[in-house]
Parts: sequence; structure tokens; C-alpha cells
Amino acid sequence: MTDFTKTRQAFHLPEGLTYLDGNSLGPMPIAAKERVSRMMAEEWSEMLITGWNRAGWYVQPRKVGDRIARLIGAGPGEVVMGDTLSIKVFQAVSAARALRPGRRVILSDSGNFPSDLYVAEGLARAVGAELRVVAPEEVADAINEDLAVLMITEVDYRTGRRHDMKALTARAHEAGALTVWDLAHSAGAVDVDLTGADADFAVGCTYKYLNGGPGAPAFIWTHPRHADAAQPILQGWMGHAAPFAFDLGYTPAPGIERMRVGTPPVIAMTALDAALDAWDGVELADLRARSIELTEAFIAGVEAGCPGVTLNSPRDPAMRGSQVSFRHPQGYAVMQALIAEGVIGDFRAPDVLRFGFAPLYNDLQDVQRAVDTLARILRDESWDRPHFHEKADVT
Ligand SMILES: *Cc1c(COP(=O)(O)O)cnc(C)c1O
Repeated sequence: MTDFTKTRQAFHLPEGLTYLDGNSLGPMPIAAKERVSRMMAEEWSEMLITGWNRAGWYVQPRKVGDRIARLIGAGPGEVVMGDTLSIKVFQAVSAARALRPGRRVILSDSGNFPSDLYVAEGLARAVGAELRVVAPEEVADAINEDLAVLMITEVDYRTGRRHDMKALTARAHEAGALTVWDLAHSAGAVDVDLTGADADFAVGCTYKYLNGGPGAPAFIWTHPRHADAAQPILQGWMGHAAPFAFDLGYTPAPGIERMRVGTPPVIAMTALDAALDAWDGVELADLRARSIELTEAFIAGVEAGCPGVTLNSPRDPAMRGSQVSFRHPQGYAVMQALIAEGVIGDFRAPDVLRFGFAPLYNDLQDVQRAVDTLARILRDESWDRPHFHEKADVT
């Protein structure tokens, strides 16, 4: 059994706060602070350029990738780190598309995160493809033989709705298409099994449920059957078969290594590596069970005691990731009032209050406090003060 009391202790959780926004930015793992300062003191400062070999900076994107692989149902040597998620989406979708020449359509859904859609739209323009966007519940029926790529974010960032990865992948394969799964709200949140679902490509960020810190590097996975055939569109030198031969022409490295682009962010990756220590000993089945326990308790508590909000997430836990959202016509001000009371969730336009439950550090006490605080704010209408209506840059 996973010891969630112990995993909670791995994080710095500021006194007096109930943090339910780990689906946007995970809290700081205590080990990350120490590891980054040690890296600065012993590696960058003393080793300088030799750190690429002596401290293993060059191989770090693969080593950290191996640690993430276990959390997404992938094998060792199948995941590599680097860049941001938006860039990894571009790489994965372009590579998948190129493996299906003669087909024009990239299919996604309107529950996807806008950046993924923007990136796919730009790619489609550049290569003469077509981005088709349907409602989340219409994805399965929209899969047909025009499709080159099905590009889906498994868990919807607003509603927490979870797509059936295995069923959609099977359907895409029957139609002769490939799949790209975005795991931004899945990795570290639910029991992802890329191999079991027979997916083709996957990408994700590490600053949400994986707690790697703001701007932490993204990951990309290619199924081994495609790894030596996938053609990277961003042909950077670090994805070359022999980067230090400095050839004028590009030859892709074997396997997933070709999905590297340029110099990796070593300091950020060091923080992420330390953050992943918290996952040692965590079983994905326990993670999922704990997540369902927390989200079920939250929904029950809010529906019993908070007037004026409506559930905006699937009621069936099998259809949900690890976040819950509710709608309220004054959602923005309500969330500002909650934050002022030390319960941190976030707001997504136009009226969505979003609460992420991270099994590694959230517990039933967090759920209770969030429910009680929300109930009080809604009952006494304390959200309706002018300063709670003022919009900040980041919501
Ligand atoms: C968070 C998120 C992103 C953010 O992409 P960045 O390049 O890391 O800013 C993209 N796609 C999805 C589905 C997300 O949830």
C-alpha cells in the first residue's frame, strides 16, 4: 500500500493554505530546493562545461524520462524530456501525421486545451493538413478513414472529463489513423497505461501533478514500433545521431532520442528529478483509488452544503480525472474570495471554479476545509466585494 502520509511530507505546503491547484502548478517538493542548490554549488560552479559528462547533464533527459515512464505505462528508454508541452505537441502530431501520408485530417475536440489546438492549426497550415474539431462526446463517431491523427487530451482541463484512451485508440487504429495523447492532466493524476492502450504517441508537462516547478520540461513518448520511423520536424542537433560530429546534414538518433531538440534546461530538470523522488513506492492503483475518494467526497460535500453551484464534471468517477469543477455565474469573484480565505483553486472562463486533487499531498481534511469555506462564502455572499471582481493577469 502506498503511504500517502509520507508522500505529503515530501512537499512544502505553506501554513494555513489548502492547496487545490496542483493541476496548474504542483507545490515545491522539499528535496527540489536542496538538490538544485547542491547542483549549483557542486556541479555548475565547480565542474563548468565538464558537468555535461561528469554530472550526467547530457543523459539526464533520458534518465528522468525513464522515471516518468513508470507513471504512464511506458517502458524504459521510451520517454525523453525537453522543451515545453506546446512544442512536444507539435513534434508528436507532425511525426504521427508524416507516418500516414496521403491522409489530411488531424482530429481533436473542443475540450482540448487551446494551446494544443493552436499548435495543430499552425501545423495544419504549414503542411497543408486540416484540423477538425468536434465536441468531446462526438470524437468516437468522427473517426474515419480521412484521419491521419487523432490528437486528444485524455483529461479535459475544465471539466475533468476523461476520455477512454484504449477504446478511442482501438477505433483510430481500425480506421488506419494514429493517436497522440496529451497527458497534461493525467500523468501523476490517474492510472495511465499507454502500453495497455496501445497508443502511438504521448506528450505531457511536468509542472502540474508531477510537481517539477514552474516551466519544468515536458516529456514525449513514442511507441517502440514507431520510434525508429518517426521523423522529427524540429531537427535539432541534440536529436542527431552524432551531435558532436557536427555534420552539416541531419541524421536522426535511434529511438526516442531523436525527439530531443536543443540544449536541455539542466537546472529545471534537476528540480524535476528531485520532485520525482516523491513517486518512489507509489502504486498507480492506489493513486487512482485515493483520487476517487477525494473527488467523490468533495462533490458530495459541495452538493450537500453549497448553494448556487452546479457540477461541471462527470458524476461517474470512471469518467473523471483527478479534478472537479463547478459553475457559478460569478465564478471569478467566488474563487478570489476562496483564495483570500486560504483555499486555492482556480478559475477558467467563463464561469468555472476548478479544484485539483493531488493524491500525493491532498487529504480529506483539505476536502472538508474547501467545502466548509465555499459553503460559507456562498451563504454570506462575501464574494460580492469590488476587489474580488478585479481581474489579474493570470487566473
Ligand atoms: C497545461 C497544458 C498545456 C500547456 O503547455 P505549455 O507549453 O507547457 O505552456 C498544453 N496542453 C495542455 C492539454 C495542458 O493542460
